[in-house]
Amino acid sequence: MRYVSTRGMAPVLSFEEAMLTGLARDGGLYVPETVPAMAPEDIAALAGMSYEDAAFRIMWPFIGEAFGAEEFHAVISRAYAGFDHAARAPLVQLGVNHFLLELFHGPTLAFKDFAMQMIGQLFQAALERSGKRVTIVGATSGDTGSAAIEAFRGLDNVDVFILFPEGRVSEVQRRQMTTPAESNVHALAVKGDFDDCQARVKDMFNDFAFRDAVGLAGVNSINWARVLAQVVYYFTSAVSLGAPHRAVRFTVPTGNFGDIFAGYVAHRMGLPVEKLVIATNQNDILHRALISGAYRTEGVVPSISPSMDIQVSSNFERVLFEAYGRDGAAVVQQMDALKAEGGFVISQGALENLREVFASGRCSEEGTRATIAALHDETGQVLCPHSAVGVKVAREQPESAAPMITLATAHPAKFPDAVAKATGQRPSLPPRLADLFDRPERMTTIENDLSAIEAFIEERRAK
Ligand SMILES: *Cc1c(COP(=O)(O)O)cnc(C)c1O
Repeated sequence: MRYVSTRGMAPVLSFEEAMLTGLARDGGLYVPETVPAMAPEDIAALAGMSYEDAAFRIMWPFIGEAFGAEEFHAVISRAYAGFDHAARAPLVQLGVNHFLLELFHGPTLAFKDFAMQMIGQLFQAALERSGKRVTIVGATSGDTGSAAIEAFRGLDNVDVFILFPEGRVSEVQRRQMTTPAESNVHALAVKGDFDDCQARVKDMFNDFAFRDAVGLAGVNSINWARVLAQVVYYFTSAVSLGAPHRAVRFTVPTGNFGDIFAGYVAHRMGLPVEKLVIATNQNDILHRALISGAYRTEGVVPSISPSMDIQVSSNFERVLFEAYGRDGAAVVQQMDALKAEGGFVISQGALENLREVFASGRCSEEGTRATIAALHDETGQVLCPHSAVGVKVAREQPESAAPMITLATAHPAKFPDAVAKATGQRPSLPPRLADLFDRPERMTTIENDLSAIEAFIEERRAK
């Protein structure tokens, strides 16, 4: 399998190269040259398989020659060994035809573990073979950073630097990033918001001299390998509810569009998905874009679902590329307008293509709290604020015979204040994190300044 850039001007890469590269050199994102189809009988055959075996079947066609079959099996099994639930991604019924896909049983209690644990093992396998070192740099609004640190801590050939907005992540999220003692882990509190962090990471990738000098590698949600790992649970959950014989719908709490884009890939591979519903909090650029066709930035308003507090949704570029019939030049034009004017208008044809697959909804802060409280009262299920945004938006969708699967993206104990306020009860951390508040923290506060950040990385990485 070969990978091409959404902007059409970067070298075509193998899976392994695309994974190690992250952002393409033309500023675009890598996507597979073709999307491999899965026949209905192959989808049906996933029923009853272990999560790991299903993951192998679904991902293998995208990997190509990068890894041997046995090696890839071993990577998958190491990646999911640290999960707390035998099903890895269990489904819970919330109501008539409404199900919750619990994606928070990994080591950092958020869905990002599904992709990050895979990518850690894939990097390890690839770098061991080549003897190279890389410097992983990532921006996080909370969950990506802890998931990346958890996946890479202690690995021999990797240094990991995570930029997070100072004071804007929850205490649990911060402690998950600042308490690992391994010397290859570096948590940077940036004086700015998440978009600043994300912009500095992009700047580093566009500084080719720096990028090559430190062997920069990205594991943010733009990394294709992360998207790919997330495709798996769309299949496993749909199959357990009757796919491919029955279509399903998904509602996905969305920020950077990585998770829901994985659902789009599953749909393109042949999974019968009637609708993919984008659920946003008050930072609703995606919802506004789908309604009006105008993708326009408005600044970030901090919310109680902070992992969705984004202004620009980086993976949206991938679906635009598809909506424009894979026209890289059209994508370049829109991204230039975004940079210069803070927005762009999606063409009518592309917008229609998007609306065929996607719907959207927005949930206010009050709606988020009310949904946590209501679900707790009705079912006893405790939702994190992000998952509550999803449940609320899912419940507002038109009636359909197709079951609705809402993705629960984090464990409620990662956001204890918001949950306690809504339910009156403080959710407790699972045993493996019970002493998190007693562990010593280690982090560096740094200005929102590219050269300061680059200098810090140069100095601290192992040479
Ligand atoms: C990252 C994250 C999201 C948003 O996922 P995207 O792939 O960025 O759209 C939603 N909820 C939680 C808990 C997250 O950590």
